[in-house]
Amino acid sequence: MMPTRNTTWIATIALVSVLGCRNARPLPVDPLPVAQAPDPTTDHAVQLAHMGADAVLWQHASAEYHRIAQQGYELARLRLAENLRVTDARPSAVIVDIDETVLDNSPYQLEAVAKGKPFDQATWLEWTTKASAKATPGALEFLKYADEQGCIIFYITNRDVRERAATLKNLQDLGFPDADVDHLLLMEGTSDKTERRARVASDHRIVLLVGDQLRDFDERFKDRTVDHGRPLVDTMTDTLSRYFVLLPNPMYGTYRDAVQGKGTDAEKLARMKAWFEQGH
Ligand SMILES: [Mg+2]
Repeated sequence: MMPTRNTTWIATIALVSVLGCRNARPLPVDPLPVAQAPDPTTDHAVQLAHMGADAVLWQHASAEYHRIAQQGYELARLRLAENLRVTDARPSAVIVDIDETVLDNSPYQLEAVAKGKPFDQATWLEWTTKASAKATPGALEFLKYADEQGCIIFYITNRDVRERAATLKNLQDLGFPDADVDHLLLMEGTSDKTERRARVASDHRIVLLVGDQLRDFDERFKDRTVDHGRPLVDTMTDTLSRYFVLLPNPMYGTYRDAVQGKGTDAEKLARMKAWFEQGH
C-alpha cells in the first residue's frame, strides 16, 4: 500500500526528530524540581530551631561569652577561698553541673540551628557519644585549683546513664579532677537534683556550687510563674552570692521551657510567638 501524504509527513518528522536528538545536548538527568507544599511539622521545627540562632551565635562565637565564663570562674575561685576559711571536720565538696558549666555543647546547638532541628534525645546522644566537647572557659583551671585546695569535686548532671562512659571519657580526656564513676551523679528518673545534692551533703560540706541554671542550686527555681522567677532570686541573693556561681546560657534552659512549654514543635512555636506578640 502506498503511503498517504499524512503518513509520509509523520515518518519524516519522526526521522528528523531522531537525527536531531543525536546532535542535541543531552537532557539533564535530574528531574526538574517540583514545587511541594511545606511540611508543617518540619516548618515548625525549623522556625523553633531558628529562634535560638542569636543565642547560639553568642555562646559559640563571641569573645564576650568567653570572657564572662572566665569571669564566673574567677568569682568561683574567690568565693571558694572565702568559704574554705571556715573549718569543718567533714571533707569539702564542690558541686558542678556539666552541660554549659564545664563542657561546652554549643557545637551541637549550632548544628541544630543549621539543620532546623530543635533539641531531641537521639541527636543529643549522638553528640555526647563523641565525647568531644571542649571545656568551658575557666572551668578546668578552677576545678584544678579546688582540687589543690583539698576539695572533692562532684559532677551532678541530667545526662542519663547511657551517657556515663562517654561523659567520663570526655571529662578525663580534658583532665578534669575526680572524673570517675563515684563522682559523676547522673539523672536517675528525675531532673530534680535535690536528692543528689543531699547525698553529697550527707558526708561532705558543700562549699560551692557552679551551674548554668538556677536549678543547679535550688529546685525552687523551676517555678517561673511569678515574674519569671526573679522575685525568688531577690529573696535569696545573699545565699546565692556566697554559695553559687551562675554561668550564662541563653541557648536553652528553664527560662525558655517556661515560655514554650511541652508538646509538639507546633505548640511550642505557637506559645513562643504568642509570648513575643504580647509585647510585655
Ligand atoms: Mg547545665
